[in-house]
Amino acid sequence: MSLSYEVSLPDGTKFSQPAGLFINNEYVKSKSGKTLDSINPGTGEVNGHVYAAQEEDVDIAVAAAREAFNKGWKKSSGVDRANLLFAFAKELKDNRDLLGSIEAWDSGKTKIKMQSTISMSGKVIQHDPLKLAYTVHEPFGVCGQIIPWNYPLAMAAWKLAPALAAGNTVVLKSSEITPLSILYLAQFFKKVGFPPGVVNFISGYGAVAGKALAEHLDVDKIAFTGSTATGRVIQKLATSNLKAVTLECGGKSPLIVRKDADLEQAVKWAAVGIMSNQGQICTSTSRIYVQQEVYDEFVTKFAKHVEEEYKQGHVFESDAVVGPQVSQQQYDKILSYIDIGKKEGARLVLGGEKNTDPKLKDGYFIKPTIFADVKPTHRIVNEEIFGPVVSVGKFVDDDEAIKYANQTEYGLGAAIFTKDITVAHTMASDVQAGMVWINSSNDSDVHIPFGGVKMSGIGRELGEYGLNMYTQAKAIHVNLGSML
Ligand code: NAD
Repeated sequence: MSLSYEVSLPDGTKFSQPAGLFINNEYVKSKSGKTLDSINPGTGEVNGHVYAAQEEDVDIAVAAAREAFNKGWKKSSGVDRANLLFAFAKELKDNRDLLGSIEAWDSGKTKIKMQSTISMSGKVIQHDPLKLAYTVHEPFGVCGQIIPWNYPLAMAAWKLAPALAAGNTVVLKSSEITPLSILYLAQFFKKVGFPPGVVNFISGYGAVAGKALAEHLDVDKIAFTGSTATGRVIQKLATSNLKAVTLECGGKSPLIVRKDADLEQAVKWAAVGIMSNQGQICTSTSRIYVQQEVYDEFVTKFAKHVEEEYKQGHVFESDAVVGPQVSQQQYDKILSYIDIGKKEGARLVLGGEKNTDPKLKDGYFIKPTIFADVKPTHRIVNEEIFGPVVSVGKFVDDDEAIKYANQTEYGLGAAIFTKDITVAHTMASDVQAGMVWINSSNDSDVHIPFGGVKMSGIGRELGEYGLNMYTQAKAIHVNLGSML
């Protein structure tokens, strides 16, 4: 198999898709020649094949990253690194339509956006006139990064920018389900002048390439985004050399609607919060709790809004809002949860089945689904479904709303709709989540930390908090006096 293949997309886009591993600024074949299939979720057809990294390829990529770190990247100036990153950001911007099309084709996404940033400083600490201490922030060295399939480019950008800005070198493994946009992106690092080995990309399966990276003895830090189940595995693998670990894992984020809320706004945000990206967002507000006085009105308006505004279609159709699920596996999993919801006795208000429209029936299309009257014990309320399926339940007072909101093992996001400013802040404090949205859902900004508590993860991404996850403070003590 060759290192690239020609592609022509339904929207007329033509390009050459790289298929190799990207190591030392070159696309290369995996040593074993093993490959993985890239499937089009809109049709179930194979888009193409890319080389899949095995353990030996991971060793080669890590050695390249180590050499680049020792040879100069660790001593490079922040200004030089920033200039390279800004040049790279410009390439991203210039190619955003093409990258967006590749990602749409590979993952079933109907829309896409991207962003990036830098800044870092140590402290001088002087408590004693004869002693001076200061801290410097040093990079870890070689960082392994493992990302999921739901936002390949964004997840890669959130991880690469702070790691590189802080002076680390990187080996990033994409998801076996969506390798294409990441491989295309790789060439821009060479183009704008990043030294060989500073950024390396490998496609490959989690249990092989991901495992090899997470337990590698010459990797200093592992940053992971994906499911909680895999996050637990990564944390164990990382004990091999006590590497630093950050985990961005799953969620089951609540959205609370009090009786004093602006109901029209709550309805719109609730729909954005679960139906965007086909419900495949870690922070999806997939559990909605509505105060009893406005419960019936909310459910009726919410179902009407979703039915009217969230049309299904192929990714390159202009009016398509909800695309296909990413893979057969996800499709089967979501349908099985819909079945569980029906059997558990939740009231099906909308959807609840695959889309059998002749145009869509071969792809992984599931109708936007709303279950109402859910009980706290229902599995669809407690387990992450990761699809366009939302459960709506009723609460009596604020204490009950917080009790429900905090009942799952997750703690990623939470949304609160109310006009009472005091209650809004009290609830924001009481809810167990890494991010709280007051009168919105899923707001995100590259300057504002992103991450979860409980089993949704460890550490933060984005902004200064995210940058700090890629450095270690070194304390330097200076003796200004003489020995007693
Ligand atoms: P996943 O856990 O199946 O896979 C994520 C990545 O881990 C992939 O690259 C995969 O190849 C790799 N992997 C799998 N098994 C591995 C192993 N044994 N060792 C090392 N690596 C391994 O998750 P997914 O299905 O790709 O993504 C969906 C999940 O990601 C959802 O649970 C979602 O909530 C979560 N997610 C979280 C965030 C966040 O920021 N918190 C963001 C996006 C997605």
